[in-house]
Amino acid sequence: MRKKIIKASVFLLILIITTSPLYAENIGLVDVEGRLLNEVSAWQSEGSVLLDLRDLFFSLGFDVSWQEETQRLEVDAGEDEYKFRPGKSLVAVNGENLVPFDPPHLHQERLYLEVNAVENFMTEELGKNTTWNPSRSQLQLVEADESEPVDADERSADPVADFLGEMDDEERAEGELLVVIDPGHGGRDPGAIGPNGLMEKEVALDISHRLADRIESEYEQIETHLTREEDVFVSLEDRTRIANELNADMFISIHANGHHSQYARGFEVFTLSGEASDPSAEELAETENSVLKYEGYDADELDDVAWILHQLRATVHTRDSQDLARQMVDLMEDKLPVPNRGVKQAPLWVLKDAQMPAVLVEAGFLSNPQEERRLQSSDYQESVVEAIAKTVYHYLENNH
Ligand SMILES: [Zn+2]
Repeated sequence: MRKKIIKASVFLLILIITTSPLYAENIGLVDVEGRLLNEVSAWQSEGSVLLDLRDLFFSLGFDVSWQEETQRLEVDAGEDEYKFRPGKSLVAVNGENLVPFDPPHLHQERLYLEVNAVENFMTEELGKNTTWNPSRSQLQLVEADESEPVDADERSADPVADFLGEMDDEERAEGELLVVIDPGHGGRDPGAIGPNGLMEKEVALDISHRLADRIESEYEQIETHLTREEDVFVSLEDRTRIANELNADMFISIHANGHHSQYARGFEVFTLSGEASDPSAEELAETENSVLKYEGYDADELDDVAWILHQLRATVHTRDSQDLARQMVDLMEDKLPVPNRGVKQAPLWVLKDAQMPAVLVEAGFLSNPQEERRLQSSDYQESVVEAIAKTVYHYLENNH
């Protein structure tokens, strides 16, 4: 028996040495000037290096604690709190699942993460750029560049100016109408994520491209513009700003819903209001507005006088927006095999500055596995698009 164990151990040892030279070795975390801040325990194997997240975040001066019962590594990084779980590809930020991420590995009550994923997290979330030096086994902090998260001061910069500059060249023909289509989320903001990993930002972009194609090919007098053509981040305010500066006749923001219950299903269309029409609309507004934290806003800024002012300005279009929304859900009900949840109102930041009829479409629930499959299918997407395109045409025809 003992002989067998020894044999097996030797075999295993040879196997480990020959196939996967995995070994533990500390790496150095080095500051901008090259001074060693701390040693971080790590596992290395075949060029890939896994860092101990507890050591790493502790070295950066954050509060770190491992919750053995819930198997979570909690990191208090000052402004934001993160919760990492072994094998899970989402990091919870301030209690919400938001950031897609490479899953960390659990080893002896410690979470380890590949060094490239560590670098991404440091840049995207913490605004700390790093370079990994494999020959010295050092992760060095480097001067931050423009990839740093947007802070409050940068909000006054003009990220859509170039875009609008291009637009100026395209003169609109007499009598031509313009619809601005806004694919929700994008870039570092994935929006809702389905149980099979489908992201809201992808669905929104697909449907928006299809909608633009459909409108332009079927209705000669209607032009379209997308607030984003690809997977990039656009702030909520820039989305309506594009529509306003282009003097658009209509603004349609395209989204897919996420809900804590996987049974929630159906489509719904929202218009702007200072007060949510029901608790689920309120929840939705909180989720859709939560992207503001990527834009350097404080959540408290949402509740004050600014809202009332925006609301007053928007009331000019409230009735038009509600008419548009009602017509839209009626046609969607005809075309889609899922329940009609109706027209709702909510304090949606993305709609607050629109100077034209504006709606936000939630095309289905990504959190529901069946609807996630539907939202990915071109059949379902085309049905959504058909209903919206027809509504757009009828509405504009009757109101211009
Ligand atoms: Zn959304």
